Amino acid sequence: MEKVPMTRQNSDGIDDFLDGPADFADLMFGFMDGSNGSDEQILGDFVGGEDEDEGQIKRRRIFWETQEQLLQATLFQTTSLESRIRRATKEALRELHTVGVQCGCRRPVAGDCRKCIQRELSVRLQSLGFNCYICKSKWKSSTEIPPGEHTYLEVLDKSNPKKGDVRVVIELNFRAEFEMARANDDYNKLIAMLSELFVGKTERLKAVIKILCVAAKKCMKEKKMHLAPWRKHKYMQAKWLGTYERTTPTPLPVGTPDRPQKPKASLLTFDLRQGLPVMHYTAVEVVW
Ligand SMILES: [Zn+2]
Repeated sequence: MEKVPMTRQNSDGIDDFLDGPADFADLMFGFMDGSNGSDEQILGDFVGGEDEDEGQIKRRRIFWETQEQLLQATLFQTTSLESRIRRATKEALRELHTVGVQCGCRRPVAGDCRKCIQRELSVRLQSLGFNCYICKSKWKSSTEIPPGEHTYLEVLDKSNPKKGDVRVVIELNFRAEFEMARANDDYNKLIAMLSELFVGKTERLKAVIKILCVAAKKCMKEKKMHLAPWRKHKYMQAKWLGTYERTTPTPLPVGTPDRPQKPKASLLTFDLRQGLPVMHYTAVEVVW
């Protein structure tokens, strides 16, 4: 495996910060955990003494503006390692779009096949020298969340022995995972800040998930609606941050007799506004 050099750029400060002993997400969001009082209590103290209605409106405004700022800051600070993997991923997806992906599943799913795109993408990133794996997380039901499983990619960077292994998650359908049909405008504004493709270190992913899950909870509370169990913070954490199995895929043999050739399908289209790939298939969701 070709060694991937780590370029040192001005994002190293953040890199060191994210890799430091202190937990980034917890540092930043510990105040929302409820251990130090709920976010609303804290915000309530902040604007205390107001007329009740006015205070409530102000508190609400502060909550959503804070989420927006936190998400912005978390998404847009990026390390050179993450940028490199993101660039390579976008480039590989563009190529896959051009040549098409052969679905090798015995029972192909309706529409485009996330599984086969993930495999091809992983093979391509490996050929570029990245330690890219397919990860399958699986979790049991608990009092709070139902069981489920999820598949995504990761790149394990070992180029800096001092830092140890750095794990960068690649999720092809990130935005879709958080979209809610009956969300309010404030929540949708957060979702609009996400691109469909997420490439980021686990610390960053952890922080982003927390912001979005806190926002989803608040949104549903405001609408007096029940938050679906698969939208809960614990469930989202289990998807990408819980226990998982890692496999290295091999390229699919082309023209194997029992796998008839299918016409090449164009699997990806491009969102020209952002120049980011948009996948037109839905994420695998667990049906209750
Ligand atoms: Zn397939």
